Amino acid sequence: MMIHGKPRTVAVIGAGILGAAIAWQLSQRGIHVVIIEKGQPGEGASSHSFAWINAGAKEPIGYHNLNRRSLEMWTRFAAAIGDGGDPDNVGLRWGGKVSWESAPSAAEALVARVRQLQSWGYPTRLVDANELQVLEPALDVGTVAAAEYSPNEGQVEPQMVVDACLRRLRERDCEIEAGTEFYGFRQRDNGRIFGVETTSGGGDVDAVVLATGTDSTRLADLAGVNVPQARSPGVVIRTNPLPPLLHIVPVVYAPALGDGRREIHLRQCADGSMMIGEGDQESLAEDDSQGHADDLLERARRYLPGLKGAEAIPVPVGWRPMPLDGYPVVGFASEAPNLYVALTHSGVTLAPVLSQLAAQEICDGVLAEAVLGPYRPGRFAGLTSEDVASATHPRDAKLR
Ligand SMILES: Cc1cc2nc3c(=O)[nH]c(=O)nc-3n(C[C@H](O)[C@H](O)[C@H](O)COP(=O)(O)OP(=O)(O)OC[C@H]3O[C@@H](n4cnc5c(N)ncnc54)[C@H](O)[C@@H]3O)c2cc1C
Repeated sequence: MMIHGKPRTVAVIGAGILGAAIAWQLSQRGIHVVIIEKGQPGEGASSHSFAWINAGAKEPIGYHNLNRRSLEMWTRFAAAIGDGGDPDNVGLRWGGKVSWESAPSAAEALVARVRQLQSWGYPTRLVDANELQVLEPALDVGTVAAAEYSPNEGQVEPQMVVDACLRRLRERDCEIEAGTEFYGFRQRDNGRIFGVETTSGGGDVDAVVLATGTDSTRLADLAGVNVPQARSPGVVIRTNPLPPLLHIVPVVYAPALGDGRREIHLRQCADGSMMIGEGDQESLAEDDSQGHADDLLERARRYLPGLKGAEAIPVPVGWRPMPLDGYPVVGFASEAPNLYVALTHSGVTLAPVLSQLAAQEICDGVLAEAVLGPYRPGRFAGLTSEDVASATHPRDAKLR
């Protein structure tokens, strides 16, 4: 399903990292873009994100490859939007990720994962305790039963990315309506959208991109499109700004400390603050208390002694946009043929590839079926409310 002819004006609803990136890509193709953002650009999931750019934690292979393709696009994307063509201006930092396990059972799983990724050609490798220590001398790694280094992974600052995209859009006279809420489509009987209703009055458009993160389920439903999501709260705390602590490898996954606890992950932001979370990229967490923040910092300090004296700053729960099966929802909706849905977890990693392909599909009418075919909104059309209710985890949904 697609629109007829190249649109002149496209409304992009939502200015998180995905909406901002798609808007920028559309403007690059000569489209007049109107961004509608109910709050401040970047303040949704993007501001809570750990913002680790990776393909190592992604499966099956098709989804791994999508993430990998995006990871490989990040430097070019960042240079294109960054002031002066400098990727540093959006906080892009490469250097890889290390992770290790101290318990033998967890070590087995880590080794199996590395072998699987290697069989897919991913440049991850096992390292011993000595090399781990050399890779990031600031760490106190303790007992190492197995360790891994993925040199191609990195991190970025989502807020800087959003701000950079919006600066480029302003240079092209695109309209950015922050503090304006979208609440309805102007739709013809055949489902085509000809305008949007917003708190500032709305207007006529040729196509709409819905990039509203967790709000997308409710908003897509206004056009009769089913985009179910799972509830996915996550907590990543911060510290006060600190001098550089991680000098070589920016992203660290350290083992759980004791039974029943989860592994922790940390990275240092461009402003010097440290981000600390626990579990994996889909772990559910809702404790955003000071006590929990103090506990996370204490556990991180065990592995990174340089955190001594740092202050734990709790951050309110972040809600991950999480399509019910855990995979992106990208493409035109058959119920509203000029409505383009863009909803995904791992949107920081995936922003370059999804934004480029979305702009291509919207502007040129060339559908990237080979890449995006598995991720179309239509896969949810036959989903019953029982299927949705019985899904305890995104990937349990009976969709594929
Ligand atoms: C704790 C946590 C850790 C994460 N870690 C990683 C990671 O390490 N790596 C990774 O790749 N991804 C990670 N993610 C996921 C990633 O952050 C998200 O996939 C990404 O930020 C989604 O961007 P988005 O633009 O789609 O959504 P959002 O950033 O949520 O933006 C949606 C925007 O739409 C606006 N909006 C909503 N409704 C309306 C309306 N009616 N009218 C106007 N505007 C509206 C909102 O205000 C918001 O600004 C993490 C997420 C969380 C929460």
